[in-house]
Amino acid sequence: MRSFSARLIAWHEHAGRRDLPWQNTRDAYRIWISEIMLQQTQVATVTPYYQRFLGALPDVQSLAAASIDTVLQLWSGLGYYRRAHLLHRAAQEVVGKHGGTFPRDAATLETLPGVGRSTAAAIAAFAYGERGAILDGNVKRVLARHQGVEGYSGDPAVERALWARADDLLPREEIEPYTQALMDLGAMVCLRSTPDCARCPIADDCVARRTNRIDALPAPRPRKPLPQREVAVLLIGRGDEILLERRPPTGIWAGLWSLPEVPCDADVAAYCRDRFGADVAAGAALVPIEHAFTHFRLRLTPLPCTVERWPTRMEDSGRGAWVWLPLPEATGAALPAPIKKLLRALATTLVTA
Ligand code: SF4
Repeated sequence: MRSFSARLIAWHEHAGRRDLPWQNTRDAYRIWISEIMLQQTQVATVTPYYQRFLGALPDVQSLAAASIDTVLQLWSGLGYYRRAHLLHRAAQEVVGKHGGTFPRDAATLETLPGVGRSTAAAIAAFAYGERGAILDGNVKRVLARHQGVEGYSGDPAVERALWARADDLLPREEIEPYTQALMDLGAMVCLRSTPDCARCPIADDCVARRTNRIDALPAPRPRKPLPQREVAVLLIGRGDEILLERRPPTGIWAGLWSLPEVPCDADVAAYCRDRFGADVAAGAALVPIEHAFTHFRLRLTPLPCTVERWPTRMEDSGRGAWVWLPLPEATGAALPAPIKKLLRALATTLVTA
């Protein structure tokens, strides 16, 4: 039987993806942006964001010089916004510490904010042909199944075992097609719930297949019910405008625009008097929205509010902390996905009403 890598490379030649917008380039910047966007996000979702991002910020200098607002706006809707903050910081580091030239080896790439071992190895492989193992979520699944590695892959001991297998299976040459093949196999064939083993080039010695444990490998995350947090978000309208408030620089949705947020049992009128110096009356709550994060679920209850008095002197005192925008314009701001969805629905209702 041919080696694991030889079978994958041969398979990739006829079945792999070779025309994705970030392929067929040695530009480490373009490769890096794609690798960060593809973390936890599928190719079909990433593609339009990638093209828009590269259109606006075509090189590391332009990204480093851009405001975080611009970066967040381009990222808005992709989720996991920490990636965008780290991307921005890393670009500034490339410009500030590395003279604007991307590091040329995985070890130095890994020192950049947001670039882990696997991402550094993938960038180094695609940009410079450097030999190194990758281990993203899809690859963990492929290796856990093919090599029969038991246990949850988030467990450090299991992860170490997977890295060791990934290193052992690495070919001496053709690292670039091999790396892409492994990624493609995880994304296209060895799928989480419906692996297509009949089309798999490494099926012959796959332990999970041979022992009929495909469903059991990789072992799922040990179950713990996710805690739920509940907040209310204020739909403060004035004519055709809506009030947006900037999120704090840390925590969930850091730095994005959003609706003012209060605890569910807050006195909305008192909050608005303290925060904005305004008289605002809350109306009946709308249907809550659920949003799942990795570690908790968030339940957002929209509260339409009417402005009874908004002092002129407060108009300019938001200093970037809040802003009034016409509703259609607000839906284009750098908003968290559920808030964007809510405002779009609201805009549609108003248009069709
Ligand atoms: S044979 Fe099936 S389970 Fe095994 S690696 Fe291939 S697709 Fe995945």
